[in-house]
Amino acid sequence: MSAIDETHDPARISWVASANGHSDFPIQNLPFGIFAPKGGHRRAGVAIGNHILDLAEITELLPAAAASTLQGPALNAMMALPRADRVGLRQRLSELLSDEAHRGAVEPSLYDAATCTLYLPASIGDYSDFYAGIHHADNVGRQFRPDNPLLPNYKYVPIGYHGRASSVRPSGIEVRRPNGQRKPLHEDVPSFGPSRRLDYELELGIWIGRGNALGEAIPIGTAADHIAGFCLLNDWSARDIQAWEYQPLGPFLAKSFQTTISPWLITAEALAPFRIPQPARPAGDPAPLPYLFDEADQQAGALALDLEVTLSTAAMRANGEQPVSLSRGPASNLYWTAAQIVTHHASSGCNLQPGDLIGTGTISTPKPGGYGSLLEISQGGKAPITLPNGETRTFLEDGDEVTLRAIGRAEGSVSIGFGECRAVILPAS
Ligand code: MN
Repeated sequence: MSAIDETHDPARISWVASANGHSDFPIQNLPFGIFAPKGGHRRAGVAIGNHILDLAEITELLPAAAASTLQGPALNAMMALPRADRVGLRQRLSELLSDEAHRGAVEPSLYDAATCTLYLPASIGDYSDFYAGIHHADNVGRQFRPDNPLLPNYKYVPIGYHGRASSVRPSGIEVRRPNGQRKPLHEDVPSFGPSRRLDYELELGIWIGRGNALGEAIPIGTAADHIAGFCLLNDWSARDIQAWEYQPLGPFLAKSFQTTISPWLITAEALAPFRIPQPARPAGDPAPLPYLFDEADQQAGALALDLEVTLSTAAMRANGEQPVSLSRGPASNLYWTAAQIVTHHASSGCNLQPGDLIGTGTISTPKPGGYGSLLEISQGGKAPITLPNGETRTFLEDGDEVTLRAIGRAEGSVSIGFGECRAVILPAS
């Protein structure tokens, strides 16, 4: 587990004035990303307040082991660094951005973030999505099996499926409504056309750092060392296509058309102050099998993050109205820790690689107010919600913009944010 050090000191401030009090990127965060300034090429950077520090331009100021991983247009090699090197890089960046003595050397490499384009932080070899949000699994299962919402495997196996890496996109890139086979219950045969039940899913993304060799597992006690950091992840889901196609092999085209992530790698090191115990399992639940149980992971394997989903319709934007909050809830509503998810994924001998992306599964609260999908909010489309301007929604309409946010909060620590995970729905082609 990452330790708390001087980089987390709440008294530390930056000479980059906009960082101090910044809701997402104070100096205690220092997330990594891939960006391009206007007219420039893609390169590695760190977000600091309203600016991005170009790391490729200041490599001579950075520790040599880390500097050599920061020259290209992807962070896979940086994510793969041993923990000690990642910590050393973070400590040096914190020093460079807080100590006025370095301002003259560093300031010329700062760009106004508003003028930059952000890209995926890594070249994603593989993307898998889990189903660890137990209240989401329960809320959705209840729609189909009111007396028995969770299947018998749920509390033993971290359920997952292999997703599609090629269609992962950073925040801001529009999402084209997918076409596919839809077969409503009242129709005998399917038809092909635009999804009528397009939904979002509020998830965290886990970035894999150091990988494992094919055929070799990742022990639960060292799984945290394989996690480079986290992002927000919107697993867009076409519920009508999903309902028709998913048996017996699981999600396919209903989810592979696009996945949106927040572009900043919020490092495991930055999240150290926000580690909390994994919530106790309800009485009567089975203990995790031994390969998934580690006492230290149980003590500090969950994250104190406040999650929020907002919606802005085309009409709301045209009228200058603020986005409406659809849900709020904590990220601790996960039945499995990130370490358990990683260990389970590799337990068969499946090799994880630096820059692989893993979704946690939709994170929902047990009660309304924090549901992580419209499938839950609208009760499968049966209960439309009314927005402040009088519009109604069961699922997403063309022009709707969905934004996910996450803020880490802990007593005695400066809060840090993940930045936006946002996209607008375009009409089907
Ligand atoms: Mn999902």
